[in-house]
Amino acid sequence: MKKDTKLNTTLDTKLVNAGRHKKFTGSAVNPSLVRASTIVFDSVAEMSEAARGRDDGVAYYGRRGTSTTFALSQAMIDLENAAGCYVYSCGTAAITSCLLSFLSAGDHLLMVDSVYEPTREFVDETLTRLQIETDYYNPLLGADIEHLIKSNTKVIFMESPGSLTMEVQDVPAISRVASAHGLVTMIDNTYATPFNFRPLDSGVDISIHSATKYLSGHSDVMLGVASANERTWRQLQKNSYQLGQCASVDDCYTTLRGLRTLPVRMRQHSENALKLASWLSSHSLVDHVRHPALPTCPGHESYSADFSGGNGLFSFVLKEFNTDALTKMLDSFSYFKLGFSWGGYESLVLSATHFSKRRTATDWHATGHLVRLHVGLEDFEDLQADLATGLNTFQDNL
Ligand SMILES: *Cc1c(COP(=O)(O)O)cnc(C)c1O
Repeated sequence: MKKDTKLNTTLDTKLVNAGRHKKFTGSAVNPSLVRASTIVFDSVAEMSEAARGRDDGVAYYGRRGTSTTFALSQAMIDLENAAGCYVYSCGTAAITSCLLSFLSAGDHLLMVDSVYEPTREFVDETLTRLQIETDYYNPLLGADIEHLIKSNTKVIFMESPGSLTMEVQDVPAISRVASAHGLVTMIDNTYATPFNFRPLDSGVDISIHSATKYLSGHSDVMLGVASANERTWRQLQKNSYQLGQCASVDDCYTTLRGLRTLPVRMRQHSENALKLASWLSSHSLVDHVRHPALPTCPGHESYSADFSGGNGLFSFVLKEFNTDALTKMLDSFSYFKLGFSWGGYESLVLSATHFSKRRTATDWHATGHLVRLHVGLEDFEDLQADLATGLNTFQDNL
């Protein structure tokens, strides 16, 4: 599919219009929901013609997607200035398929140490079994990553900010080094979304999102997308297809619906989260806050340089900690519900005790116990009161 050059406009406008072509929507505002396994053809000639266009958005067989899937791909292509976008059943499927599409036995992968835990498990188990070698690197390495490149290095994988600990990476610097060495770069851009950072514009080859999070935005969809540049698109497309990757058209539809309100949601998440983060920064129980917009977050300078805004996700580190006090605090919240994932309209909380603290290139848990918040669209005062009550409960049980 081609980039829509008419959409050279502000992001708010782009998010309303991206992918809304008549061929996907008919005469409606939203794309038609086309559920299909089999596509039927009236003639051999028609079938042959579809075969010729099947890699470029012509319906051919359900696994390759229908016009509903293509509407989502086109929207992401427009938003990320990509050559193509593949849609997967979840973010994890997108990540594993991107890695498998470009790595072979004997290759070396540079993986950021602050990566999302399931990505790390896939690397340590599946990629290791396939004889792909990995070195984890400090997320705060910029151009110095060059020293870690070996003769068999093939891919550099980034995730910025890092899962849970929120270190922001110098993506343009790493991409420049990778490009000079002819490596393929991939980034898990789930935090930023194309609204706040467009990796391909900074020289990254492939931008991956768990659409489960802000893109769909309502905690009711599992979906993943990977947008690739000219250099990498065809290989990613071919290998992802061979791996049998496909997605439900209902989930594509729901994600497109969520996408239209991304800017309004992001602004509100971001405003609420920044106010709470600032308030927590001066709270007597809090050691420091890891919100990319605050100087206490590692990599804050990269955030200021590269991102156009934030969202509802950040972490804070408690000065003191015991399990009983923490449990009572987590149990006491009314609005901050305990739950995995984030990016929906509702507030969530997770304590680092729920995660493996496995790191090999860095040691972060020396600083104290970390709590991650996803700040939803509720009223700020209600959320602040909820946190204040929880922290009082924590203090009473220390
Ligand atoms: C949730 C998440 C994923 C995985 O996405 P799923 O859709 O749950 O498979 C990957 N990366 C990050 C940063 C995430 O937060």
